[in-house]
Amino acid sequence: MRIIWLLTAATIFCLLFLAGGYFNKIKKRIALLGAIICILTGGGLLLLAVLPGNSFYGKVLCKGNTKEKLVALTFDDGPYPPYTERILAVLKEKKVPATFFLVGENVKEHPELVKEEVAQGHLIGTHTYDHKDLLRLDGPAVRAELSGGVKAVEDITGIRPIFVRPPHGFKDSSVLEQVAALHLRAVNWSVLPKDWTKPGVDVIVRRVVDGVEPGSIVLLHDGDSPAKKDSRQQTVEALPIIIDKLREKGYTFVTVDKL
Ligand SMILES: [Zn+2]
Repeated sequence: MRIIWLLTAATIFCLLFLAGGYFNKIKKRIALLGAIICILTGGGLLLLAVLPGNSFYGKVLCKGNTKEKLVALTFDDGPYPPYTERILAVLKEKKVPATFFLVGENVKEHPELVKEEVAQGHLIGTHTYDHKDLLRLDGPAVRAELSGGVKAVEDITGIRPIFVRPPHGFKDSSVLEQVAALHLRAVNWSVLPKDWTKPGVDVIVRRVVDGVEPGSIVLLHDGDSPAKKDSRQQTVEALPIIIDKLREKGYTFVTVDKL
């Protein structure tokens, strides 16, 4: 079921309650209560679709179920020069494996960076073909976004990705059904430093280091969606500090398939 239909149903029931009260078909107090329940239900269903850390509409990996001090760094929206190269250089120097969720259009523009990610042993997932909000698309369009993203990676690397991060982490039953039909697993996150807002290197570091717990999945960005061209330099500069501080706290870095 698409979230858009659930919201439409909640709106219709809300209007029916209000109309029933207005035309004295039901008591005004009951009409008002019914309308409020419909609004709260619709709002709740929407929040469950857009908030990353729940599996209400189907299985989404947001955090590993472990007491071990494992943490997965994930990078979205690439490949995207020069920041992807800089992130890869830091990861190589620090010997840290990471997971990259790639946008198909960017993969086609920068295949050499994808090959380098694979050569360095990082895990590659798809972040759809061109980063559209899947909640706004119908079933065939969602499938095309997912399969296009998978194919872009497979064409370059020969490896079919099995993990997908939906753009913005948005998902509903319809999206997750398409994910399952393509034998993909949806991955969101549990730590969100909002590095794309460029809050400052210190802030990014603090948000990650304070937020990480055993099994955490950290969302960072080496890239940007195809429509934008923003800097990721703060993420590049925060990364070595994040790695050192988490290692000091006893954490080991893994790819999301190890959680
Ligand atoms: Zn993204």
